[in-house]
Amino acid sequence: MVLTKPAYYDAFACLAGDCPDSCCHQWDVQVDPAAAARYQALPGALGDRLRQFLYREDGAWYLALDGDRCPLWQADGLCQIQRQLGHEALCAVCRNFPRLRHDYGDFVELGLELSCPEAARLILTAPAAPPVQAQVPGGDVPEYDREAMLLLRKTRQTALALLRDHPLPQALGLLLLYAHHVQHLLDGAAWVPFQEEAAVAFGKTLAEPPDPAGLRRVCLGLEILTDRWRHLLEAPPDPGPWLPGHRAMARYGVERYWLQAVSDYDLAGRVKLILSGCVLVRDLGGDLLSTAQLWSKEIENCADNVEALLDAAYHHPALTDARLLGALLP
Ligand code: SF4
Repeated sequence: MVLTKPAYYDAFACLAGDCPDSCCHQWDVQVDPAAAARYQALPGALGDRLRQFLYREDGAWYLALDGDRCPLWQADGLCQIQRQLGHEALCAVCRNFPRLRHDYGDFVELGLELSCPEAARLILTAPAAPPVQAQVPGGDVPEYDREAMLLLRKTRQTALALLRDHPLPQALGLLLLYAHHVQHLLDGAAWVPFQEEAAVAFGKTLAEPPDPAGLRRVCLGLEILTDRWRHLLEAPPDPGPWLPGHRAMARYGVERYWLQAVSDYDLAGRVKLILSGCVLVRDLGGDLLSTAQLWSKEIENCADNVEALLDAAYHHPALTDARLLGALLP
């Protein structure tokens, strides 16, 4: 089967003790059942410490924090499990983070999560380059809707080209309009070509003044992990300019989420999740890289927050197409 990964994927190396926002900070890690069983049977002081912090909730195992850090984290930024037992002894989340793997059966796509500072640096600053593809052993009969997947794979190329070939923020507005165009096709409409100029002209007739305070209120109503995020949302500095990093953030979102619409046919909601993230990160100003990484940590890494935003994309007044277009097609 074919494996696809971003050109920057292999450049990732964990910053360990030099990480400005370690993944061992502020998250209760979900521990896979096999690792939980190993940890429970582990003798000695390390086993005792693991058992002290392992807990079960709704059928899943977690490792509780000690203060605001993972109890296995050490002052040099390294993990006691990794140091004493090696990388393979880590639970699946810690072993893989920030690597993403989307396995569709007959093809697989890899990526990195924006919520890791070093991955964010690569995602937002690496030069745009075609993904790397390789033939790898394995694969299975796919269970997805083949017609929908064919459409999504083809249109994702067009979406990436729109992002690449238009100035900001218009490229992001066009992406929203194109997502709706593809959504109609996914919903069964007859194929018609996407006319970029006509779409922009139409988008401008729909646009209403953006509502940045409303967008921040939506996020303040979600689960919040860090005080820094709450402070940013409550008292943001002045908005920053549109930068190449916002385009890279949108590209990351398209590469990560576009094909996932095959699972529930909701493409427009996913694109609005991505674009509202770009708009919010720009509105929050400051350093783009650290704000985008924080957005990802707070929003993308919380399944409840993603679900709430996908839902809000269809009914919240701050997230209407008109408001987003107002921010993107001035
Ligand atoms: S957040 Fe990324 S760079 Fe930092 S410790 Fe975790 S994996 Fe390493």
